[in-house]
Amino acid sequence: MSLGETLAVLTEAAGFDMSPRSERPVRARCGRLLKVLLCGKCSFDCAYCAVRTKREAYALAPADLARAFLTMHREGRADGLFLSSGIPRDVDETMAGILETGEILRTSGFTGYLHLKVLPGAARADIAEAARLADRISINLEAPSASRLSEVAGVKDYRQDIEKRQAWIADAMPGRHTTQVVVGAAGESDAEILTCMERQYRRLGTARVYYSAFTPLTGTPLQGRPPAPLWRQNRLYQVDALVRAYGWRADGVADVLDGDGFLTDADPKILLAREMPPVDVNAAPYADLLRVPGIGPEGARRILDARRRRPLHSGADLRRCGVAHRAAGYLVFEERDVQTTLFAF
Ligand code: SF4
Repeated sequence: MSLGETLAVLTEAAGFDMSPRSERPVRARCGRLLKVLLCGKCSFDCAYCAVRTKREAYALAPADLARAFLTMHREGRADGLFLSSGIPRDVDETMAGILETGEILRTSGFTGYLHLKVLPGAARADIAEAARLADRISINLEAPSASRLSEVAGVKDYRQDIEKRQAWIADAMPGRHTTQVVVGAAGESDAEILTCMERQYRRLGTARVYYSAFTPLTGTPLQGRPPAPLWRQNRLYQVDALVRAYGWRADGVADVLDGDGFLTDADPKILLAREMPPVDVNAAPYADLLRVPGIGPEGARRILDARRRRPLHSGADLRRCGVAHRAAGYLVFEERDVQTTLFAF
Protein backbone atom coordinates (compact mmCIF):
# COMPACT_ATOMS: atom_id res chain seq x y z
CA MET A 1 0.00 0.00 0.00
CA SER A 2 1.35 3.42 -0.91
CA LEU A 3 2.00 6.18 1.61
CA GLY A 4 -1.00 8.09 0.28
CA GLU A 5 -3.31 5.08 0.59
CA THR A 6 -2.14 4.34 4.14
CA LEU A 7 -2.64 7.99 5.03
CA ALA A 8 -6.20 7.83 3.68
CA VAL A 9 -7.00 4.75 5.80
CA LEU A 10 -5.54 6.31 8.95
CA THR A 11 -7.33 9.59 8.30
CA GLU A 12 -10.67 7.82 8.04
CA ALA A 13 -9.90 5.83 11.21
CA ALA A 14 -9.27 9.06 13.14
CA GLY A 15 -12.82 10.21 12.50
CA PHE A 16 -14.09 8.68 15.76
CA ASP A 17 -12.46 11.47 17.72
CA MET A 18 -14.76 14.50 17.94
CA SER A 19 -12.20 17.07 18.96
CA PRO A 20 -11.10 19.59 17.88
CA ARG A 21 -13.69 20.64 15.31
CA SER A 22 -14.49 23.88 17.01
CA GLU A 23 -11.47 25.03 18.94
CA ARG A 24 -12.24 28.69 18.43
CA PRO A 25 -9.03 30.27 19.75
CA VAL A 26 -7.04 28.49 17.10
CA ARG A 27 -9.63 28.13 14.38
CA ALA A 28 -7.98 30.66 12.14
CA ARG A 29 -4.84 28.59 12.28
CA CYS A 30 -6.43 25.20 11.76
CA GLY A 31 -9.04 25.80 9.09
CA ARG A 32 -8.10 22.62 7.25
CA LEU A 33 -7.14 20.18 9.93
CA LEU A 34 -5.69 16.81 9.01
CA LYS A 35 -6.90 14.31 11.62
CA VAL A 36 -4.93 11.12 11.41
CA LEU A 37 -3.76 8.13 13.42
CA LEU A 38 -0.13 7.11 13.55
CA CYS A 39 -1.26 3.49 13.84
CA GLY A 40 -4.70 2.12 13.04
CA LYS A 41 -4.51 -0.97 15.25
CA CYS A 42 -4.93 -1.19 19.01
CA SER A 43 -4.30 -3.85 21.62
CA PHE A 44 -6.72 -2.24 24.08
CA ASP A 45 -10.28 -3.49 24.40
CA CYS A 46 -12.56 -0.44 24.41
CA ALA A 47 -15.85 -2.04 23.43
CA TYR A 48 -17.18 0.97 21.50
CA CYS A 49 -14.07 1.62 19.42
CA ALA A 50 -13.66 1.10 15.69
CA VAL A 51 -9.88 0.87 15.89
CA ARG A 52 -9.92 -2.29 18.00
CA THR A 53 -11.76 -4.13 15.22
CA LYS A 54 -8.97 -3.58 12.70
CA ARG A 55 -6.93 -6.63 11.88
CA GLU A 56 -4.46 -5.00 9.52
CA ALA A 57 -1.76 -2.98 11.25
CA TYR A 58 -1.89 0.12 9.06
CA ALA A 59 0.73 2.46 10.40
CA LEU A 60 3.01 5.26 9.32
CA ALA A 61 6.55 5.92 10.45
CA PRO A 62 6.82 9.35 12.12
CA ALA A 63 9.14 10.60 9.37
CA ASP A 64 6.71 9.48 6.64
CA LEU A 65 3.70 11.04 8.32
CA ALA A 66 5.57 14.30 8.95
CA ARG A 67 6.76 14.38 5.33
CA ALA A 68 3.26 13.71 3.98
CA PHE A 69 1.75 16.40 6.18
CA LEU A 70 4.41 18.97 5.30
CA THR A 71 3.75 18.31 1.60
CA MET A 72 0.02 18.84 2.13
CA HIS A 73 0.76 21.98 4.12
CA ARG A 74 3.03 23.39 1.41
CA GLU A 75 0.37 22.65 -1.21
CA GLY A 76 -2.26 24.44 0.87
CA ARG A 77 -4.25 21.27 1.57
CA ALA A 78 -3.79 21.24 5.36
CA ASP A 79 -3.22 24.02 7.87
CA GLY A 80 -2.93 21.96 11.01
CA LEU A 81 -2.49 18.43 12.29
CA PHE A 82 -4.45 16.46 14.88
CA LEU A 83 -2.45 13.34 15.67
CA SER A 84 -3.69 10.37 17.66
CA SER A 85 -2.97 6.66 17.51
CA GLY A 86 -4.09 3.18 18.36
CA ILE A 87 -1.73 1.40 20.74
CA PRO A 88 -0.49 -1.70 18.92
CA ARG A 89 1.84 -2.87 21.69
CA ASP A 90 3.13 -0.41 24.23
CA VAL A 91 1.97 3.06 25.32
CA ASP A 92 5.50 4.46 25.68
CA GLU A 93 6.48 3.23 22.24
CA THR A 94 3.40 4.80 20.64
CA MET A 95 3.83 8.07 22.54
CA ALA A 96 7.43 8.14 21.30
CA GLY A 97 6.14 7.96 17.73
CA ILE A 98 3.63 10.77 18.31
CA LEU A 99 6.32 12.96 19.87
CA GLU A 100 8.84 12.18 17.16
CA THR A 101 6.31 13.25 14.53
CA GLY A 102 5.74 16.52 16.38
CA GLU A 103 9.46 17.08 16.79
CA ILE A 104 10.12 16.56 13.08
CA LEU A 105 7.36 19.01 12.18
CA ARG A 106 8.65 21.70 14.51
CA THR A 107 12.31 21.29 13.56
CA SER A 108 11.22 21.43 9.90
CA GLY A 109 9.88 24.91 10.57
CA PHE A 110 6.18 24.10 10.84
CA THR A 111 4.70 26.70 13.19
CA GLY A 112 1.03 25.98 12.51
CA TYR A 113 -1.58 24.27 14.64
CA LEU A 114 -0.61 20.96 16.19
CA HIS A 115 -2.84 18.90 18.49
CA LEU A 116 -1.24 15.81 20.02
CA LYS A 117 -3.25 13.11 21.73
CA VAL A 118 -1.94 11.84 25.06
CA LEU A 119 -2.50 8.11 25.40
CA PRO A 120 -3.88 6.53 28.58
CA GLY A 121 -0.99 5.67 30.91
CA ALA A 122 1.49 8.02 29.18
CA ALA A 123 4.63 8.97 31.10
CA ARG A 124 4.72 12.41 32.70
CA ALA A 125 7.86 13.35 30.78
CA ASP A 126 6.09 12.52 27.51
CA ILE A 127 3.15 14.70 28.50
CA ALA A 128 5.52 17.59 29.20
CA GLU A 129 7.17 17.05 25.83
CA ALA A 130 3.80 16.97 24.05
CA ALA A 131 2.89 20.25 25.76
CA ARG A 132 6.17 21.77 24.56
CA LEU A 133 5.53 20.78 20.95
CA ALA A 134 1.78 21.23 20.56
CA ASP A 135 -0.80 24.00 20.63
CA ARG A 136 -3.23 21.65 22.32
CA ILE A 137 -3.05 18.24 23.92
CA SER A 138 -5.86 15.99 25.06
CA ILE A 139 -6.65 12.69 26.69
CA ASN A 140 -10.03 11.08 26.20
CA LEU A 141 -12.06 10.32 29.32
CA GLU A 142 -14.51 8.32 27.17
CA ALA A 143 -16.84 7.83 30.20
CA PRO A 144 -17.84 10.15 33.05
CA SER A 145 -16.53 7.93 35.86
CA ALA A 146 -14.33 4.96 36.68
CA SER A 147 -17.28 2.62 37.17
CA ARG A 148 -18.79 3.57 33.81
CA LEU A 149 -15.52 3.16 31.95
CA SER A 150 -14.98 -0.26 33.49
CA GLU A 151 -18.22 -1.39 31.83
CA VAL A 152 -16.88 -0.70 28.33
CA ALA A 153 -13.07 -0.72 28.59
CA GLY A 154 -11.45 -3.32 30.80
CA VAL A 155 -7.79 -2.46 30.16
CA LYS A 156 -7.82 1.22 31.03
CA ASP A 157 -7.63 2.20 34.68
CA TYR A 158 -9.71 5.40 34.83
CA ARG A 159 -8.02 6.85 37.91
CA GLN A 160 -4.45 5.89 37.10
CA ASP A 161 -4.32 5.92 33.32
CA ILE A 162 -6.66 8.81 32.61
CA GLU A 163 -7.46 11.06 35.59
CA LYS A 164 -3.90 11.08 36.90
CA ARG A 165 -2.60 11.84 33.41
CA GLN A 166 -5.18 14.54 32.93
CA ALA A 167 -3.99 16.24 36.11
CA TRP A 168 -0.45 16.19 34.68
CA ILE A 169 -1.78 17.59 31.41
CA ALA A 170 -3.58 20.40 33.26
CA ASP A 171 -0.31 21.16 35.00
CA ALA A 172 1.75 21.10 31.80
CA MET A 173 -0.69 23.01 29.60
CA PRO A 174 -3.18 24.90 31.78
CA GLY A 175 -6.36 25.91 29.98
CA ARG A 176 -5.26 24.47 26.63
CA HIS A 177 -6.23 20.84 26.96
CA THR A 178 -9.41 19.08 25.89
CA THR A 179 -11.15 15.76 26.40
CA GLN A 180 -13.93 13.63 24.97
CA VAL A 181 -16.80 11.60 26.42
CA VAL A 182 -18.61 8.91 24.47
CA VAL A 183 -22.32 9.44 25.16
CA GLY A 184 -24.54 6.44 25.69
CA ALA A 185 -22.03 3.59 25.45
CA ALA A 186 -21.83 2.77 29.16
CA GLY A 187 -25.43 3.40 30.19
CA GLU A 188 -24.48 6.58 31.99
CA SER A 189 -27.07 9.28 32.66
CA ASP A 190 -26.73 12.90 31.64
CA ALA A 191 -26.63 13.76 35.35
CA GLU A 192 -23.37 11.79 35.56
CA ILE A 193 -22.01 13.58 32.50
CA LEU A 194 -23.02 16.92 34.02
CA THR A 195 -21.07 16.16 37.20
CA CYS A 196 -18.06 15.18 35.11
CA MET A 197 -18.46 18.31 32.96
CA GLU A 198 -18.40 20.62 35.95
CA ARG A 199 -15.27 18.98 37.32
CA GLN A 200 -13.56 19.40 33.97
CA TYR A 201 -14.27 23.11 33.73
CA ARG A 202 -14.12 24.15 37.38
CA ARG A 203 -11.32 21.99 38.75
CA LEU A 204 -9.15 21.02 35.81
CA GLY A 205 -9.48 24.12 33.65
CA THR A 206 -10.26 22.00 30.59
CA ALA A 207 -10.71 24.17 27.50
CA ARG A 208 -13.39 22.00 25.92
CA VAL A 209 -15.19 18.75 26.60
CA TYR A 210 -16.38 17.07 23.39
CA TYR A 211 -19.32 14.69 23.30
CA SER A 212 -19.58 11.85 20.84
CA ALA A 213 -22.92 10.06 20.52
CA PHE A 214 -22.31 6.32 20.72
CA THR A 215 -22.81 4.43 17.46
CA PRO A 216 -22.74 0.62 17.61
CA LEU A 217 -20.13 -0.75 15.24
CA THR A 218 -20.24 -4.12 13.58
CA GLY A 219 -17.63 -6.44 15.04
CA THR A 220 -17.51 -4.75 18.45
CA PRO A 221 -19.03 -6.19 21.66
CA LEU A 222 -21.54 -3.32 21.68
CA GLN A 223 -22.80 -3.89 18.15
CA GLY A 224 -26.26 -4.84 19.46
CA ARG A 225 -26.74 -1.76 21.61
CA PRO A 226 -29.00 1.03 20.40
CA PRO A 227 -27.20 4.16 19.21
CA ALA A 228 -27.37 7.29 21.32
CA PRO A 229 -29.61 9.81 19.56
CA LEU A 230 -27.77 12.71 18.00
CA TRP A 231 -30.11 15.15 19.73
CA ARG A 232 -28.72 13.94 23.08
CA GLN A 233 -25.21 14.87 21.99
CA ASN A 234 -26.47 18.25 20.75
CA ARG A 235 -28.40 18.99 23.96
CA LEU A 236 -25.28 18.12 25.97
CA TYR A 237 -23.38 20.71 23.94
CA GLN A 238 -26.07 23.27 24.84
CA VAL A 239 -25.78 22.41 28.54
CA ASP A 240 -22.00 22.49 28.18
CA ALA A 241 -22.21 26.06 26.85
CA LEU A 242 -24.24 27.09 29.91
CA VAL A 243 -21.65 25.61 32.27
CA ARG A 244 -18.49 26.51 30.34
CA ALA A 245 -19.23 29.82 28.65
CA TYR A 246 -22.04 31.21 30.82
CA GLY A 247 -20.61 30.14 34.15
CA TRP A 248 -23.70 28.29 35.39
CA ARG A 249 -23.15 25.71 38.08
CA ALA A 250 -24.13 22.14 37.28
CA ASP A 251 -26.67 22.01 40.11
CA GLY A 252 -28.33 25.10 38.64
CA VAL A 253 -28.71 23.33 35.31
CA ALA A 254 -29.83 20.00 36.77
CA ASP A 255 -33.48 21.14 36.79
CA VAL A 256 -33.67 20.34 33.08
CA LEU A 257 -33.06 16.63 33.71
CA ASP A 258 -35.95 14.21 33.90
CA GLY A 259 -36.57 11.95 36.89
CA ASP A 260 -33.98 9.44 35.66
CA GLY A 261 -31.29 12.08 35.16
CA PHE A 262 -31.58 12.41 31.39
CA LEU A 263 -31.98 15.43 29.15
CA THR A 264 -35.05 15.74 27.00
CA ASP A 265 -34.96 16.93 23.41
CA ALA A 266 -35.62 20.55 24.29
CA ASP A 267 -33.41 23.62 24.57
CA PRO A 268 -32.16 23.55 28.18
CA LYS A 269 -31.91 27.32 28.38
CA ILE A 270 -35.57 27.72 27.41
CA LEU A 271 -36.58 25.03 29.92
CA LEU A 272 -34.68 26.82 32.69
CA ALA A 273 -36.26 30.16 31.75
CA ARG A 274 -39.82 28.86 32.18
CA GLU A 275 -39.87 29.53 35.93
CA MET A 276 -37.80 32.68 35.67
CA PRO A 277 -39.43 36.05 36.45
CA PRO A 278 -39.10 38.66 33.67
CA VAL A 279 -35.68 40.28 33.57
CA ASP A 280 -35.39 44.08 33.56
CA VAL A 281 -33.20 44.72 30.54
CA ASN A 282 -32.19 48.14 31.87
CA ALA A 283 -31.16 47.00 35.34
CA ALA A 284 -30.28 43.31 35.32
CA PRO A 285 -26.66 42.37 35.93
CA TYR A 286 -24.69 40.50 33.28
CA ALA A 287 -25.34 37.09 34.87
CA ASP A 288 -29.13 37.60 34.81
CA LEU A 289 -29.10 38.77 31.19
CA LEU A 290 -27.25 35.59 30.29
CA ARG A 291 -30.12 33.52 31.65
CA VAL A 292 -32.44 34.90 28.97
CA PRO A 293 -32.90 32.65 25.90
CA GLY A 294 -31.57 34.52 22.89
CA ILE A 295 -28.95 36.46 24.86
CA GLY A 296 -25.42 35.13 24.81
CA PRO A 297 -22.23 36.60 26.28
CA GLU A 298 -21.75 38.97 23.36
CA GLY A 299 -25.38 40.15 23.40
CA ALA A 300 -25.29 40.69 27.17
CA ARG A 301 -22.13 42.79 26.86
CA ARG A 302 -23.71 44.88 24.09
CA ILE A 303 -26.82 45.48 26.22
CA LEU A 304 -24.67 46.66 29.13
CA ASP A 305 -22.77 48.91 26.78
CA ALA A 306 -25.89 50.30 25.08
CA ARG A 307 -27.77 51.07 28.29
CA ARG A 308 -24.86 53.07 29.64
CA ARG A 309 -25.74 55.56 26.91
CA ARG A 310 -29.53 55.39 27.16
CA PRO A 311 -32.23 52.99 28.38
CA LEU A 312 -33.45 50.31 25.99
CA HIS A 313 -37.12 50.65 25.06
CA SER A 314 -38.03 47.98 22.56
CA GLY A 315 -37.25 44.94 20.50
CA ALA A 316 -35.65 47.28 17.97
CA ASP A 317 -33.13 48.34 20.63
CA LEU A 318 -32.42 44.67 21.29
CA ARG A 319 -31.87 43.99 17.60
CA ARG A 320 -29.34 46.81 17.49
CA CYS A 321 -27.50 44.90 20.24
CA GLY A 322 -27.54 41.79 18.05
CA VAL A 323 -29.99 40.03 20.38
CA ALA A 324 -32.55 37.56 19.00
CA HIS A 325 -36.17 38.74 18.86
CA ARG A 326 -37.36 35.86 21.08
CA ALA A 327 -35.43 37.34 24.01
CA ALA A 328 -38.00 40.14 24.25
CA GLY A 329 -40.56 37.69 25.65
CA TYR A 330 -38.43 37.23 28.77
CA LEU A 331 -37.61 40.91 29.30
CA VAL A 332 -39.25 44.02 30.67
CA PHE A 333 -38.22 47.48 29.52
CA GLU A 334 -38.70 49.55 32.66
CA GLU A 335 -37.52 53.11 32.32
CA ARG A 336 -34.31 54.03 34.08
CA ASP A 337 -32.80 57.43 34.49
CA VAL A 338 -29.71 57.55 32.31
CA GLN A 339 -27.63 59.17 35.02
CA THR A 340 -28.66 56.50 37.55
CA THR A 341 -27.70 53.79 35.09
CA LEU A 342 -24.33 55.36 34.55
CA PHE A 343 -23.60 55.45 38.26
CA ALA A 344 -24.92 51.95 38.73
CA PHE A 345 -22.36 50.56 36.33
S1 SF4 B 1 -7.24 2.85 23.50
FE1 SF4 B 1 -8.18 4.23 21.99
S2 SF4 B 1 -7.73 3.33 19.99
FE2 SF4 B 1 -7.37 1.73 21.54
S3 SF4 B 1 -9.29 0.56 21.64
FE3 SF4 B 1 -9.38 2.16 23.24
S4 SF4 B 1 -10.40 3.95 22.27
FE4 SF4 B 1 -9.73 2.53 20.61
